[in-house]
Amino acid sequence: MDPVVLSVVGGGAADVETHNAEARHRFGRLYFAVGMHHNNDIASLLNWLDAQQDEMLRLVRRWAQINSGSHNLAGLAQLIADVQGEFESLGGQITLIDLPPAQSIDSAGNVVHQPLGQAIRIVKRPDAPRRVLLNIHLDTVYGPEHPFQQVQRLDDRTLRGPGVADAKGGLVVMLFALRALEQSNLAPQPGWEILLNPDEEIGSPGSGPLLTATAGRHRIALCFEPSLPDGSLVGARKGSGNFTLVVRGRAAHAGRDFHLGRSAIVAVAEFITRLHALSRQLPEGVTINCGRIEGGGAVNVVPDLAIGRFNVRVTEPAQVPVVERSLRELANELNRRDGIRAELHGGMHAPPKTLDPRSLALLEMIRDCGRELNLDLKWQPSGGASDGNRLAAAGLAVVDTMGPRGGSLHSDGEFLLIDTLAERAKLTLLTLVQLARSDAFDLLW
Ligand SMILES: [Zn+2]
Repeated sequence: MDPVVLSVVGGGAADVETHNAEARHRFGRLYFAVGMHHNNDIASLLNWLDAQQDEMLRLVRRWAQINSGSHNLAGLAQLIADVQGEFESLGGQITLIDLPPAQSIDSAGNVVHQPLGQAIRIVKRPDAPRRVLLNIHLDTVYGPEHPFQQVQRLDDRTLRGPGVADAKGGLVVMLFALRALEQSNLAPQPGWEILLNPDEEIGSPGSGPLLTATAGRHRIALCFEPSLPDGSLVGARKGSGNFTLVVRGRAAHAGRDFHLGRSAIVAVAEFITRLHALSRQLPEGVTINCGRIEGGGAVNVVPDLAIGRFNVRVTEPAQVPVVERSLRELANELNRRDGIRAELHGGMHAPPKTLDPRSLALLEMIRDCGRELNLDLKWQPSGGASDGNRLAAAGLAVVDTMGPRGGSLHSDGEFLLIDTLAERAKLTLLTLVQLARSDAFDLLW
């Protein structure tokens, strides 16, 4: 990319002339002006970020080679130590935070508690008038037992590996954008708080309350999930919830006493078919997927235990109670049967993220920053949920795809487009600078 010379000028700065007017975009009372020459600070920071491309790639490779599956506590601890070492250069105050264990239902239908890794908080300039919450997760969907472990350069542009895009690339983008910011003498500088959590890929069961509490100190959040392969950002996101139905019946000999048995498998099967029928009457965009069933044993025994595991997606907050009520009613129906006991566990861990006016204003501001980098940024909705859902539900303006471009996430084809590391670090830098200076953004603040 051609180096662009950028200036950030205060409102009413009449000394900025009208040449290059076409390339100039107003941000309230402040704007970047392409081609201006009287302030090279930002231009030199952007050049510095371009020069960090190899260093950024090196760090993505190193972090992707540390297995940090959500349940791999040793790997997460190793990653946290390495990440902490790199982020120390920013000069913020670092705190490691223990999380409560995640609650889940095992194959015997019992509630079990699984320990989680730690979260990292880093705070800089907490008293600055303009502060931004920066968040991304440390974990990946690939545990140590997963066959996909290798990081591999596919070609000049592409790195394939577990977590290279989701979200270790985003972690590197965040780090380098802040390194550029912190080495600058731009003023005013925004305050920032980083929250890195170890359990996003399993629905943030331990860090969810921490995210919500942290959100209470902020108005704006940037999350570093990967942007889409074509560079688009994500606007609205569906909400997501996981539910587990545990049904206990009565065991009996399938030959001698079949009539005395009460089949838990039949009950779960009926629950699923009823739910499937019902979901066709739910509002458009609401889906309920039974992803796993467990139960039974020897085929000559009427099974006394069966478990169904469900994922629910919704598009509007008002759909959440409708879906929850439907699930509960169907479970209650099973409980009215002779010899059958049903328990429903779980809930909506990620509320739907609608594109409210403040988040839209933030997206538009980031798009305008992108124009200064010759990026034509668009956004589109996604069915996938992220921690951005939770932060938006807490009232923040959120853009959650500030990470590099990548795709085939959660599969053994996961890839990162390498040259977008610098691209998105520059975009993040411009966004932070703009947020710190834009006192005209009443809507955002
Ligand atoms: Zn992710």
